[in-house]
Amino acid sequence: MAELTEKISSESPADRPEKARSSWRNSTIRKPVRAALGEMAAGFETCMYCGESRGTDVDHFEPIVRNPLRTFDWLNHLLACSACNSHQKRDQFPLDQDGTPLLIDPTAEDPFNHLLLTLSLGIYSPLTLKGEVTIEVCGLNRRGLPQGRMHARNVVELALHAWDRARGRDRSDEMRKHVRTVQGQPFADVCQSMLRQALSPGADIVFSDSPDLLELLRSPDLRQALLR
Ligand SMILES: [Zn+2]
Repeated sequence: MAELTEKISSESPADRPEKARSSWRNSTIRKPVRAALGEMAAGFETCMYCGESRGTDVDHFEPIVRNPLRTFDWLNHLLACSACNSHQKRDQFPLDQDGTPLLIDPTAEDPFNHLLLTLSLGIYSPLTLKGEVTIEVCGLNRRGLPQGRMHARNVVELALHAWDRARGRDRSDEMRKHVRTVQGQPFADVCQSMLRQALSPGADIVFSDSPDLLELLRSPDLRQALLR
């Protein structure tokens, strides 16, 4: 990838975006990059933006047109579904007045420092300006996603209660199966958010309708199994 970047930088600045695009399109490196991202993605190669659909494209977080020298930068590659890549984010990369990027960079930042998921509604709210811009640009509350997250929350709850019953019977094989159910479903962010919020000061209110679930989410055994 360093060699390919070198070739792009040897072009004049005006010609770099076009050169970078054609190098990327014709490069044999796309497939291995796509495969490596697929292994790192949550669930079954799920999109790293919406968490819902299968990731099919390698998205350039900082768009090629804006920074062609990052076309072959590993940390600039994210696995995205075509809805997020081609219809939602596209070449958007907003900056503030000082030139600081206003999108959360998931390779360097914790999205939960900028976003709060209201579990009962499946809707993201911003905690920061970056969170607000990311919700808008990535369409994190677009039609279908909140409903999918509410469903995911219910699936997690059912699976965790099943895990607890299996634990009561000392059935480690069943316990592993339920953990895999949680880890393999779309919207991995929902379970991560549940685990976070269970330890937050407002947890008793967030989980007021399901205190048993809250107790489970705080169980060190379960947290270890899900977070490893
Ligand atoms: Zn997506």
